[in-house]
Amino acid sequence: MLKLYNTAAHKLENFKPLSDVVKIYTCGPTVYSDAHIGNLTAYIYWDLLVRTLKVDGFKVKRVLNLTDVGHLVSDADEGEDKLEKGAAREGKTVWEVADTYIEKFKQDYYSLELTEPEIWARATDYIEEDKEAVDLMNEHGFTYETTDGIYFDTAKFDRYADFAKLDLAGLQAGARVGFSDEKRGVADFAVWKFIHEGEKHAMRWDYLERPGYPGWHLECATIIHKELGEPIDIHTGGIDHIPIHHTNEIAECYAAYERDLSKYWLHCNFITINGEKISKSLGNVYLISDLVERGFSALDYKMWVLSGHYQGTRNFTFESLEAAKARRLGWRNRIAECYQKEIISSDSFEKILEAVNNNLNSAEAFAIIDGAELSLDDWRKIDELFGLRLIEESPKISEETSALIIMREKARKAKDFAKSDEIRDKLAGQGITVKDTSDGPVWQYLR
Ligand code: AMP
Ligand code: ZN
Repeated sequence: MLKLYNTAAHKLENFKPLSDVVKIYTCGPTVYSDAHIGNLTAYIYWDLLVRTLKVDGFKVKRVLNLTDVGHLVSDADEGEDKLEKGAAREGKTVWEVADTYIEKFKQDYYSLELTEPEIWARATDYIEEDKEAVDLMNEHGFTYETTDGIYFDTAKFDRYADFAKLDLAGLQAGARVGFSDEKRGVADFAVWKFIHEGEKHAMRWDYLERPGYPGWHLECATIIHKELGEPIDIHTGGIDHIPIHHTNEIAECYAAYERDLSKYWLHCNFITINGEKISKSLGNVYLISDLVERGFSALDYKMWVLSGHYQGTRNFTFESLEAAKARRLGWRNRIAECYQKEIISSDSFEKILEAVNNNLNSAEAFAIIDGAELSLDDWRKIDELFGLRLIEESPKISEETSALIIMREKARKAKDFAKSDEIRDKLAGQGITVKDTSDGPVWQYLR
């Protein structure tokens, strides 16, 4: 039985699907710059979620959105628009910026062997749905207009503070002096923003007879409404989404469609690098391509991520990535062992799956893998569950390579060490090493 920590219930719960297809929505990237390794952890954890559900026998329909509408750098509906910022930086249009970073995000996504969502949803493809949702929220009396846009009146939604256990009175008291504008409550947020005369904002759509653009939480509620139908089973995101983004998605969904958005909510924690926050000023914004340049594969990084738990804070170091890489090579060499001697399958895979079914505890599952006797069939199932391409990257050696190993053994026995060394070097060139054991020579992958 799959158990998940449900943020909405503030506890661990047994997973019971709403229907015969599990509907999942994952808040995706804002496509105005490269996704760094911290950003990518979420998609690795949610890939494990999808794979676990599938191995458990569920059918899954999942949407991952791509935020290509410029939303603002701060959560508070203030500051610079992220896509405009990217466009200015690169001398491109906002549309070119979005296309570029969608492409780059997908490259990383596939290199991490992440399960393809059934639908990739680009926010700008749902503007008509956004307008309809704002119409509905207006009709239902949840909004008010300011010179800045249409705002959500959080006082009208009495469950507003529940999801994140917000202390609204405290927030209100602590609000900046001069928190004047025309916002009625401190947590009120824009569902639609107006573009004023002379304001530079390339992405714009006409609504209420003037140019504007949707507020950034809205796309998730409207995409879910159109593509999946609320309530969905599972909504995923980062813990930073709890107090504002997801709280607001829930409010908008209720105000527009009078329904709950999702039954289960999963949130993953942040990683630090050498104990520090990831930030440009610290120069520690690593991309997958940076890891590859240093001799790691994307899957070594996935291995590192899955060696911890999605709810815990994690500290990334190159030493720990080195360890993850060595562990992955070790596992591939156990596959090599399967090619060379018979290993009897036990119930190990059941134990591995059980660990993962316990709130996606991949760390424990990995520890079980380290200690268990596993057959080739078990490794196949492990690949299905974690997407580590272990079997694919661990091919059986060719007949010629086998023959070389036999020749080397003969040379060694005849004490022709010049020849056996020559063959050893040749094998090393093919990425193979031979260990001499009491049972005779055993080959392994060098990399
Ligand atoms: P950003 O572009 O920095 O706003 O990040 C986009 C999303 O990536 C955030 O909303 C977080 O959920 C996630 N994220 C950012 N930094 C990290 C990190 N260091 N570790 C894990 N997730 C992160
Ligand atoms: Zn979202």
